[in-house]
Amino acid sequence: MTDIDKSNFAPGDAPTYESVLQCMRCGFCLPTCPTFALTGRERSSPRGRVALARAVHDGKLTFSEALKEESFFCLDCRACTTACPSGVKAGEVMEVCRSQAQQFFPGGHLSQKFRSFVLERMLPDPDALEKSMLPNRLYQRLGIQWLVRHSHILKLGPDWMEKAEGMMPKIGEPLRQQLPEITPARGEKRGRVAFFLGCVMSLMYGEVSRQTVRVLAYQGFDVLTPKATKCCGAPHLAEGDRETSRQLALHNLELFLKEDVDAIVTDCAGCGASLKEYEELLEGLVPHEKLEKFRAKIRDVQEFLAEAGLRSEGLKPVNTSVTYHEPCHLCHAQGVSKQPRDLIKAIPGVEFREMNESSWCCGSAATWGLKFTEESQQVLDRKLNNIKATDADHLVTANPGCHLQLAWGLKQAGIKQDVLHLMELLGQATPE
Ligand code: SF4
Ligand code: SF4
Repeated sequence: MTDIDKSNFAPGDAPTYESVLQCMRCGFCLPTCPTFALTGRERSSPRGRVALARAVHDGKLTFSEALKEESFFCLDCRACTTACPSGVKAGEVMEVCRSQAQQFFPGGHLSQKFRSFVLERMLPDPDALEKSMLPNRLYQRLGIQWLVRHSHILKLGPDWMEKAEGMMPKIGEPLRQQLPEITPARGEKRGRVAFFLGCVMSLMYGEVSRQTVRVLAYQGFDVLTPKATKCCGAPHLAEGDRETSRQLALHNLELFLKEDVDAIVTDCAGCGASLKEYEELLEGLVPHEKLEKFRAKIRDVQEFLAEAGLRSEGLKPVNTSVTYHEPCHLCHAQGVSKQPRDLIKAIPGVEFREMNESSWCCGSAATWGLKFTEESQQVLDRKLNNIKATDADHLVTANPGCHLQLAWGLKQAGIKQDVLHLMELLGQATPE
């Protein structure tokens, strides 16, 4: 039991005492933590971070700049959760600490204005998000991008700027309005699913989600795509804005529970993890049965197809070799690890090559890769070496953040592999 009067956490969202009390300091998590591997610092390890949060709870430490720093330096990759025998979730504890950081150290007026514009106005509004892509499309189509890249002008600015520009894929027309509300099943019908169209995926990698819908339909499922879907709220959690995340979660929960579907399917690991965690985020605000009903329907598309059984008749051979990078929010946050491999191996003609440390983070982690460009490069280099060693034709993954970081890293390093989402690979095998 804690004497809650002693706690130095501010009222509102704070880690529960139980969540920090469970740590028995065994250290099993240490070899799995990328930031501990980078720094060797106890405070940048899962055990050290949990100890800092516990000290604040115990009233032995005030919420310091050091804890703020650690909460944002944590990648929230959840590798420590997979390794911990006591069920400690250091990544989630740090995620909640970020909202404390916003209370204790809210930043200057301008940065607060910018933050609330992006988190509270842009991201929750799909129309505004789509419109915000227009300047990017013009930038690419009018040759300005070519000019900027060849003039190396961005080298004069901060590192993150050149990296962000270099990562940008070719931006097409937003997918949301192009997808029909209902895409009918092909062949013998096996069920009906709702597709959660993620914002980053549909704006940056529209082709992935187009293939996801096509593959699901070929596999015998009617696919509903609710156009009123909003951001899942993951970027808000990453930035410590749990309140806006809750509002988005409430909207999506009501929207999707109206549909009579067997499953709610996503092709974005980050969205999937966030949707599965609505249960905790909305606890106390929504009747528990409703939260359970929603949680029971959420599936990553790989998880869903592996459970349903891949209908392989009619699939065309894709004669190629692939290796697989596991997105942290798929393998560690959702425990989906074997299913993508099973699907890859079931595609005719595909040779699967396992890579070393496939579940080690790629160094993207929402905006982490831009905030800590040097550290992110070190995490990425370790991953690139493992990818290169497989000599596979393609690198397959299942999350837009990983996709952006890895595609950029491979190109920078002059490594031949290109990056595909697993649904793009399966799409190549799926007849028109
Ligand atoms: S977080 Fe878990 S694995 Fe790490 S030291 Fe604590 S109990 Fe051990
Ligand atoms: S979530 Fe990742 S970076 Fe954060 S403490 Fe755990 S292993 Fe380390």
